[in-house]
Amino acid sequence: MGGPPLSRVFERFEPSLISEIFSLAVRLKEDGRALFDFSTGEPDFDTPGHIKAAAVAAMALGETKYTSIDGTRALRSAIREKFARDNGLDYPEEQIVVGSGAKPLLFNALQAMLDPGDEVVIPTPCWPSHVGAVRLAGGIPVFAETGLDDGFKLTPEKLEAALGPRTACLILCSPSNPTGAGYSTEDLRGLAKVLLEHPDVWIISDDPYEHIVFDDFDFATIAAVEPRLYERTLTVNGVSKCYAMTGWRIGYCGGPKRLIDGIIGIVSQAQGNACSISQAAAVEALGGPQDFLADWAADYRLRRDLAITGLAEAPGLRCAVPQGAFYLYPWCGGVIGKTTPAGLRIDTSADFARYLLEDWNVVVVPGLAFEADPYFRMTFAVGDDVIEQGVAAIAEACRALT
Ligand code: PLP
Repeated sequence: MGGPPLSRVFERFEPSLISEIFSLAVRLKEDGRALFDFSTGEPDFDTPGHIKAAAVAAMALGETKYTSIDGTRALRSAIREKFARDNGLDYPEEQIVVGSGAKPLLFNALQAMLDPGDEVVIPTPCWPSHVGAVRLAGGIPVFAETGLDDGFKLTPEKLEAALGPRTACLILCSPSNPTGAGYSTEDLRGLAKVLLEHPDVWIISDDPYEHIVFDDFDFATIAAVEPRLYERTLTVNGVSKCYAMTGWRIGYCGGPKRLIDGIIGIVSQAQGNACSISQAAAVEALGGPQDFLADWAADYRLRRDLAITGLAEAPGLRCAVPQGAFYLYPWCGGVIGKTTPAGLRIDTSADFARYLLEDWNVVVVPGLAFEADPYFRMTFAVGDDVIEQGVAAIAEACRALT
């Protein structure tokens, strides 16, 4: 111990309530236990061959040097076309920036938007890195709660109540990580009406799951739904989730030029350009064949239904049917207060997750991580056999409680 002090930035973080579950899962795996792991946040598909081939070709052509900080011209042009084709959004190339994943871009965008003490409205349940990025940028997250009964969607009334004189930004994520809830055009119109009354508020629309949608849900994004918000909306996306490219680290965003210039300034000092080879692969992902996206969504939907059918057998749990992404966010209020066969009382979702792991070899993420409890998150981007056996184990675990 001893030595120079670390910065105060760490004081803005609370100790992770879920790291204990993950550490335990890692230890059990190392001990040779076979686990049903529903904790991951990535597709189980491999990156399609034509995308990998574009990366190989880029390497062979010597595209192995620094690129322009904001991304290659080829990629920004493909992104421009993608925004027009998929979203009806017109972002010229100078209003687009590519980064090493959506995550660093979100962080850099908040750094460009916030002064210390500025508030950012985040509907909960939310993705933990939205909260972390706001805090790291000196902002204060203001949580607007949603739950199972309102479909995990922010209403205009709740938005209005959360907005205040220090609000600098609202973060929307649809379909959502962790709930899979998706905002329809009509939902977004309702929120936009409120936002038009608050002209000093930025909007971040984080859309990485846009093509993973089910049933008759149509993806929509707010800058397209309400063009009067275009000048203060940052539309964030990436190839990680929809194109099964989490390891390639390519994200991008489109927004008003002064904000994009601010983000590019920060990227130039903090990260530099995204990987040149991954950028070439992303050109192919966004500009190449798109037909597999619908096939993958149909495949995810079957697995979603398999998991939901199995969870219906679990007493004490209730599960909404997600419109998109690859997560379920079951409510587990019915198991709180019960006792495990080993005599331990379940007081929180973290206790329930620990019980599932220790006694039933099932790994889920407790809702405390997403600022909403008592719930847990589980992915269905895993094999059918894992879903069948793992969900049966969850149901059995619930039945064993007294
Ligand atoms: N936004 C949301 C809502 C996510 O769930 C994730 C990944 O989990 C990201 C952004 C980050 O994606 P990327 O891999 O592009 O950094």
